[in-house]
Amino acid sequence: MPEPLPAPPPDFARPTSLPEALRLLDRGSWRLLAGGTDLYPGAGAQLQGAVLDLTGVDGLAGITMDGDLRIGAATSWATIATSSLPPALHTLQAAARVVGGRQVQVAGTIGGNLCNASPAADGVPPLLVLDAEVELVSLSGTRRLRLADFLLGPRRTALQPGELLVAVVIPEQALQGCSAFVKLGARSHLVISIAMVAARLVVDQDRITGAAVAVGSCSAVAQRLPAVEAALIGAPVPSAAERVLGADVGAALSPIDDVRATAAYRHAAAVELVRRAVVEALA
Ligand SMILES: Cc1cc2nc3c(=O)[nH]c(=O)nc-3n(C[C@H](O)[C@H](O)[C@H](O)COP(=O)(O)OP(=O)(O)OC[C@H]3O[C@@H](n4cnc5c(N)ncnc54)[C@H](O)[C@@H]3O)c2cc1C
Repeated sequence: MPEPLPAPPPDFARPTSLPEALRLLDRGSWRLLAGGTDLYPGAGAQLQGAVLDLTGVDGLAGITMDGDLRIGAATSWATIATSSLPPALHTLQAAARVVGGRQVQVAGTIGGNLCNASPAADGVPPLLVLDAEVELVSLSGTRRLRLADFLLGPRRTALQPGELLVAVVIPEQALQGCSAFVKLGARSHLVISIAMVAARLVVDQDRITGAAVAVGSCSAVAQRLPAVEAALIGAPVPSAAERVLGADVGAALSPIDDVRATAAYRHAAAVELVRRAVVEALA
């Protein structure tokens, strides 16, 4: 009697708990699936390799606040858009409402947006102005990274084999202030950004005491604008727009020419979008 052949490795699994997902991830080579709105279009005609479907993992979706604000990696854009959140997060909620159309917002997740690491990911600039950190878990333990250190370049992150992104954490001190998000595309909806800007400002007695501004789609990874932030801090609210126009908006940016826009257009657009985002946040 010949030995029975070993069972082939599964090409699909849908774990229901985080420990089960981590055990599976540790044992095989998987493509992680959340909403699939980046994974499937990016795969072309056929998705190759084994798929680990995260949609059944208990506790991976949802928003909780206990000092810090924690957004589960599998939280959809629709949930973020419709949750009751402090004004500092209005920038993220405004972005959530313009990620694709309604179907994409229902299926697509914040974790997928970050792990896909597109320079045009609308979730990134709002999370940069919120000083967000990502929580990464593997069988070896948990680690936290600043979002700016997690995103290494187009389609490149600091995620290690065996690791899952489980949550985005916004520290309590970044939950202050008012915020806005402004996006420019070739049309008003269902469009990849030519440039987008997030701004979060803290105002005390009619003066700006805290400023965080970030631009996406104008560099390999979205960037905070330290020169603009420095120009805004201490400014009386009515002079904020003037301060933006006097600052070197392009200092941290390196836009490229591509099918959506030229570098020169992106640069000019970024200046105007920063002005609009600051004015909108203050309004
Ligand atoms: C028609 C259309 C329009 C779109 N418009 C926009 C837009 O306007 N703005 C925008 O920013 N994006 C847009 N997108 C892209 C996409 O919808 C978003 O980036 C979305 O947030 C991706 O989330 P997802 O759950 O679908 O990710 P998936 O496609 O499931 O996954 C994306 C990547 O992340 C990995 N991944 C997912 N979850 C985890 C996790 N927890 N841990 C580790 N790795 C993980 C996957 O393996 C994959 O590599 C659009 C997509 C489509 C199809």
